[in-house]
Amino acid sequence: MKDDRSVSCPIIWRRDWTPWLFSFGTTRPAGLDFTPGQFVRIAMPTTDGEPVWRAYSIASSPAAEELEFYSIVVPDGPFTQPLSRSRVGDRVLVDPTVYGFLRTDRFTAARHLWLLATGTGIAPFLSMLADEAVWRRFERIVVVHSVRRPVELAYRDLLETRAARAPFDGCRLDYRPTLTAEHEIGSLEGRITDLLVDGRLERSVGIDLSPDDSRLMLCGNPSMIKQMRVLLGASGFAPVRRDTPGHYISENFW
Ligand SMILES: Cc1cc2nc3c(=O)[nH]c(=O)nc-3n(C[C@H](O)[C@H](O)[C@H](O)COP(=O)(O)OP(=O)(O)OC[C@H]3O[C@@H](n4cnc5c(N)ncnc54)[C@H](O)[C@@H]3O)c2cc1C
Repeated sequence: MKDDRSVSCPIIWRRDWTPWLFSFGTTRPAGLDFTPGQFVRIAMPTTDGEPVWRAYSIASSPAAEELEFYSIVVPDGPFTQPLSRSRVGDRVLVDPTVYGFLRTDRFTAARHLWLLATGTGIAPFLSMLADEAVWRRFERIVVVHSVRRPVELAYRDLLETRAARAPFDGCRLDYRPTLTAEHEIGSLEGRITDLLVDGRLERSVGIDLSPDDSRLMLCGNPSMIKQMRVLLGASGFAPVRRDTPGHYISENFW
């Protein structure tokens, strides 16, 4: 789809976590304001044909000068294949219109925020954790990052540092790396849904999930989100709707 508002932004850094996962930063188009959790559409410039636009969550702080993104490389993916070959100095097109309802300001007050991500679904949560306003709203924030293998725990150092020392007084981060295909001491094992059903998730953090105290965000794999919605619904949790407060918000990445 042609988009005349798009801004051509140079890639200013790139970090490869694995051959199929990498992060990169671009300059930030003037006037692009966002709330943590929101996404923009990005594309690779083309010399022939229309660019392929894809939604990307912004991983950086709303106060940062740059935009940060965290990307999968999909085998034969129309967008991520050319993106994966990009280097510092290459350009991406950024549509400066921001979208998305994965925002903590859509929740009514509660004590605990649970951020449940699979894979690159951690990206919008990184932006939230970089924003003081989000920390100030909750006593505790729990981040569950579910991946197959330990090498896919991107941003682990950052999250462990934040868990060891929350950036603001009066709040605390519990980080729970979760592996589905390999074992590692210190990480939870199994799918998020299984950890919820058998109580391991709550036990590992030491707090209960309850509609009164907990607000949840689910991001990433659509099948995780679909199953979670069923489990949460059976426990009295309701989705946040446009005009109705609820307990959880979800965002499918495909
Ligand atoms: C609101 C929103 C925010 C998104 N934010 C991000 C983000 O921050 N980082 C990111 O990498 N992707 C994100 N995505 C997915 C992204 O838009 C693309 O789908 C992805 O980059 C792959 O593009 P592609 O053209 O190479 O393959 P596509 O043709 O888009 O996808 C092909 C297949 O690859 C798989 N797939 C797509 N995206 C992912 C993924 N992220 N992880 C695992 N499998 C995937 C699915 O099976 C999909 O059917 C987001 C999607 C939405 C809707």
